Amino acid sequence: MNHQLSERINSVTPSATLEMAAKARELRASGKDIIGLSLGEPDFKTPDYIKEAAVQAINEGYNSYTPVDGYVELKDAIITKFQRDNGLDYEHPQIVVSTGAKQSLYNVAQVVLDKGDEVILPCPYWVSYSDIVKLADGVPVEVGTSIDTDFKMTPEQLEAAITPKTKMLWYSSPCNPSGSIYSKQELRALADVLQKHPQIIVVSDEIYEHINYGVTAHASMAAFEDMYDRTVTVNGVAKAFAMTGWRIGYIGAPAYIARACNKLQGQVTSGANCIAQRAVITALVESPDRVQYMVDEFKERRKIILELLNAIDGFECNEPEGAFYVYPDITAFFGRTFNGSTINNASDFAMYLLEAANVATVTGDAFGNGNSIRISYAASEAEIREAVARIEAALQ
Ligand code: PMP
Ligand code: GLU
Repeated sequence: MNHQLSERINSVTPSATLEMAAKARELRASGKDIIGLSLGEPDFKTPDYIKEAAVQAINEGYNSYTPVDGYVELKDAIITKFQRDNGLDYEHPQIVVSTGAKQSLYNVAQVVLDKGDEVILPCPYWVSYSDIVKLADGVPVEVGTSIDTDFKMTPEQLEAAITPKTKMLWYSSPCNPSGSIYSKQELRALADVLQKHPQIIVVSDEIYEHINYGVTAHASMAAFEDMYDRTVTVNGVAKAFAMTGWRIGYIGAPAYIARACNKLQGQVTSGANCIAQRAVITALVESPDRVQYMVDEFKERRKIILELLNAIDGFECNEPEGAFYVYPDITAFFGRTFNGSTINNASDFAMYLLEAANVATVTGDAFGNGNSIRISYAASEAEIREAVARIEAALQ
């Protein structure tokens, strides 16, 4: 705590995913052979057809400020994508392009929340949700789930969490970290609860939409007519197109929210990078089938890591239906001591794996559920096999 700094920043927890990745990088630099399964980042290269669009944009002389909320042609591409993939009809004033989906989420929190407004976060939730809410003076309200409901919130739990101060519900589907997907029927059941509480705005984070292993079809909350006017659909290109560093995310939203995000962004970033925006036009206009090869590869790795982890006594895994994480329940290890290290919680466990197995994972505490750790399988098959073998050896 530094008293020269604001209470706001002092109250924020550093991103556990980015912090673990930094720690792994540091240990690697000091000569340790660390396998990094902590960061949610595809290990593929951005596809050539997208890179070529960026090169073309540079050669055509794109270098100026863009419209704050994104190029018109990019908004056209986003509108096409929402219609094609989600059955959602948006118009230009409802779209805002930002510097990553993370900024999209940050914008929405800043423009919707007042001090003390409550935001319901089904746990486990993506690591940054609670701090983004706190940065907007909102209050995260965690709703616990467990592996028994595939880490999904039930309508009864939602109803019980709502108070007169509830302003928003945030969730990701496919979920980072659990890989769970809410079916259309499950979303409808949550929407039925929300019907009784018209003040609540929903943030539906669909950034893993295309990384779906074919069990439960992707569904969007905004596709329900009665939810359209109160749902912000968040998406981005980082995951499905292997474009994490390009930093482009976007929303489709009620126009008043989009206008407010545009105003905020005009004072904060002036809009997202021009070359990245031009490349994303191509990424979104082209068929998602062109990046299916990455999903097929993730599916194979998922099968391998589940088989390997389930063979270790004490790991209990749900079968993730999307994204590229496993989120095993590891409570069976609590209270046990390995090589002098006692495991009292998920953070101890993740730290022990880093030190004893040289494998970086993320503690479930970062996602509001301390019974698990998150393991990313966006890594090569060889790395996955070696990592799990080391984990197993460390837990002998
Ligand atoms: N939402 C979820 C669920 C994520 O996992 C991530 C990870 N990066 C983001 C949003 C942010 O995406 P971006 O890299 O586009 O900011
Ligand atoms: N979303 C990724 C993850 O969960 C990237 C890290 C981050 O943005 O925090 O690992």
